[in-house]
Amino acid sequence: MLRAMKETLMDQLEDLHQGKEWSQLLTKHQLYSNLKRRTNKSMYDVSNVRLESLLKFAQNRYSRLWRTRILRQLCKNTHSQWYLFDRLEPVDIQGNLLFIAPDMVVRIQNKWHLFRFDMQSSAHSVCHEEEANAMAIWAIQHNGFPQKPISFKLHTIAWHQGYWHQKTYQPSEKSVSNCSILLSNDMNAMKSIRTAGNRNPALLPLAQHYRTCQSCAFRTFCPGGKDLAKAKKEQALLELSTKKRLLEA
Ligand code: SF4
Repeated sequence: MLRAMKETLMDQLEDLHQGKEWSQLLTKHQLYSNLKRRTNKSMYDVSNVRLESLLKFAQNRYSRLWRTRILRQLCKNTHSQWYLFDRLEPVDIQGNLLFIAPDMVVRIQNKWHLFRFDMQSSAHSVCHEEEANAMAIWAIQHNGFPQKPISFKLHTIAWHQGYWHQKTYQPSEKSVSNCSILLSNDMNAMKSIRTAGNRNPALLPLAQHYRTCQSCAFRTFCPGGKDLAKAKKEQALLELSTKKRLLEA
């Protein structure tokens, strides 16, 4: 449902950008067809009744999203310079491919406002600001945008516990540099897990449920991606033999 909503949002924004407005009927139709396509591809069996109730949930959440300030302003043509970006388009930062693009950039007076829409988010935490700073890293190294963090404002619009929560952050040299360090530490940690896992599969942190593996980018390299239950058994055996060797040593 979340992916269908995001897909509908980006399509509707793209049309709005070209001056085409959607009627309520068209919005409902697009939400429904995106939901249907996604549930058809899903590993879950989704009945028609379930699909209808998902559509009602999605419609409610989606219509409230369009009541947020920035989307109302865009509908009224308040801003002439705004652009959409694909968050699934990775950016190469020091040899690492990162998915940190904003969903939308709007020029308001002398600042570039970078927006991210999250259809479902966790409770607010300091990590959210650090994550939002990744959009500034993307913008600084993207052609056509200024190089200084002060030229940007970061916005997240995220659904949590029945409401759309909007947060705004002012990036600084320090917050952007902290975010870069965090991203680089994350990448190094992932690389070492992968290297350790290649050396010894017993060290791989396997998923709890096979459904997690279905959408994992590592599933072709990971034994869990082929057969999670079998990989867990093999891992348990490897752990046992490692413990046995340590006891005998
Ligand atoms: S495929 Fe491997 S890395 Fe991916 S979620 Fe499953 S167990 Fe984890």
